[in-house]
Amino acid sequence: MTTVSRYQRSADTDCELYDAIMIGSGIGGLVTATQLAAKGAKVLVLERYIIPGGSAGYFERQGYRFDVGASMIFGFGSQGTTNLLTRALEAVETSLETIPDPVQIDYHLPDQLEVKVHRDYDKFIQELICQFPHEAEGIRKFYDECWRVFNCLNAMELLSLEEPRYLTRVFFQHPLACLGLVKYLPQNVGDIARRYIRDRNLLKFIDIECYCWSVVPAEKTPMINAGMVFSDRHYGGINYPKGGVGQIAQKLVEGLEKKGGTIEYKARVKEIILENNKAVGVRLADGREYRGKRIISNATRWDTFEKLLPDQTLPKKEQKWQERYQKSPSFLSLHLGVKSDVISPDTDCHHILLENWEQMEEPEGTIFLSIPTLLDPSLAPPNCHIFHAFTPHWIEDWQGLSPQDYHEKKEQAAAKIVQRLEKIFPGLEDALDYQEVGTPRTHRRFLGREDGTYGPIPQKKLMGLLGMPFNQTAIPGLYCVGDSTFPGQGLNAVAFSGFACAHRVAVDLGF
Ligand SMILES: Cc1cc2nc3c(=O)[nH]c(=O)nc-3n(C[C@H](O)[C@H](O)[C@H](O)COP(=O)(O)OP(=O)(O)OC[C@H]3O[C@@H](n4cnc5c(N)ncnc54)[C@H](O)[C@@H]3O)c2cc1C
Repeated sequence: MTTVSRYQRSADTDCELYDAIMIGSGIGGLVTATQLAAKGAKVLVLERYIIPGGSAGYFERQGYRFDVGASMIFGFGSQGTTNLLTRALEAVETSLETIPDPVQIDYHLPDQLEVKVHRDYDKFIQELICQFPHEAEGIRKFYDECWRVFNCLNAMELLSLEEPRYLTRVFFQHPLACLGLVKYLPQNVGDIARRYIRDRNLLKFIDIECYCWSVVPAEKTPMINAGMVFSDRHYGGINYPKGGVGQIAQKLVEGLEKKGGTIEYKARVKEIILENNKAVGVRLADGREYRGKRIISNATRWDTFEKLLPDQTLPKKEQKWQERYQKSPSFLSLHLGVKSDVISPDTDCHHILLENWEQMEEPEGTIFLSIPTLLDPSLAPPNCHIFHAFTPHWIEDWQGLSPQDYHEKKEQAAAKIVQRLEKIFPGLEDALDYQEVGTPRTHRRFLGREDGTYGPIPQKKLMGLLGMPFNQTAIPGLYCVGDSTFPGQGLNAVAFSGFACAHRVAVDLGF
């Protein structure tokens, strides 16, 4: 890849030159951009950072290639319709080699509850039933209901729910699946789980099954998302991209350029230009301006509406959204290089550690750990592994510190995490070869996300996914894509949002 020449490239700034201008190159933005380019649209992507991918980016240090965020990747299946990453790459005639992960998560939970979510569905269900034999029927019924949601989704092409002709077509093609989805759209996981399960510890297990991707317990987690996650991990499976998660964005960029699209790095959009209250272009921090028929923001809704449209009163629709959803915390992230002696050969890639159920949602309560080198050893020097451990943290706890206090606080917090991980990997501290600690401030700075947030979470219990906005906004010509649009966080989810956004924009442009 010739990144240097890319930095130097400058897109055309003529009036009305682009069909669509994308602000940001996260996976949501790149899927939209590639879909539009594949349909023949003239697309420009403007990315403030030096590489694409956002939260699915990477960085390299001393022979290690670390994933910035995501490592547990859905959407790379080979069948059905929910394999959106595979489909997004195919649309621009590219693909990625992936490595199947035999276990989605190895849970290490309070009261010595140890559960592995095997790719093999029956093996997982058997393992859970062994822990909760008195709930065998409830376990089967609950996860069966998740399959019902998934089967509805996986029967139809996933495009824009804001496009009436698509809705009519899909309804006539798959009436039962559509009615099924309409039924589940306003529901949350907690209500359905309690219909079948009584055991309090098992309900807590369902809570953490949700929390580990939705960052809220089952009570507040939409059933549509759970249907996807709890079933697709056994259907398309979890598959790690060879060469690291950063490869997904790199390949999408390759495909975008193949289809005539342009991406510029170090191109921070400072303002969305409005004329007669319609979005018509963008102004960069360095003063350049670009004009487009449609402007799409892959920045979070908070960044889009409060920073890129600063003099606007917040549209009513956005005010309502902000009343329903709040920013989730960010993360404290440890990127570690670890000598391989402390890892037994049968270790799984993804782990979740929680010692006390009461602290599941607290900062430093739940620890997430990924060891992607167990799937792709090429990401680290020989005989070494990558550990990416992260735990929720609020930005407020990292503000107003002197550089020295900030540094010391990071070191202390990291030491506590390493100490807790010693329970799973005795000798970890002595096996450390490299350590880099990121805080919510790091996430804010490098990912361009307000307060470094992981994304929106419901303020209170809502009606499933009904309150999540789609891609159109209250401002004509302006669309949003990514994790603050339907259906929320996660790479496959933002890819869904990308397919939907591209579809809506393409119809509006007459493609
Ligand atoms: C620690 C962590 C672990 C995670 N683990 C997983 C996981 O295992 N599996 C999973 O599926 N998901 C995971 N996620 C979530 C997933 O990474 C995100 O939901 C997803 O990547 C968000 O994609 P996006 O397209 O919405 O936006 P982002 O990834 O936030 O990308 C937005 C892009 O826009 C750019 N941008 C912003 N503002 C501007 C501007 N003004 N001008 C120009 N460019 C701008 C940013 O630089 C960025 O590149 C994780 C996230 C984190 C932080």
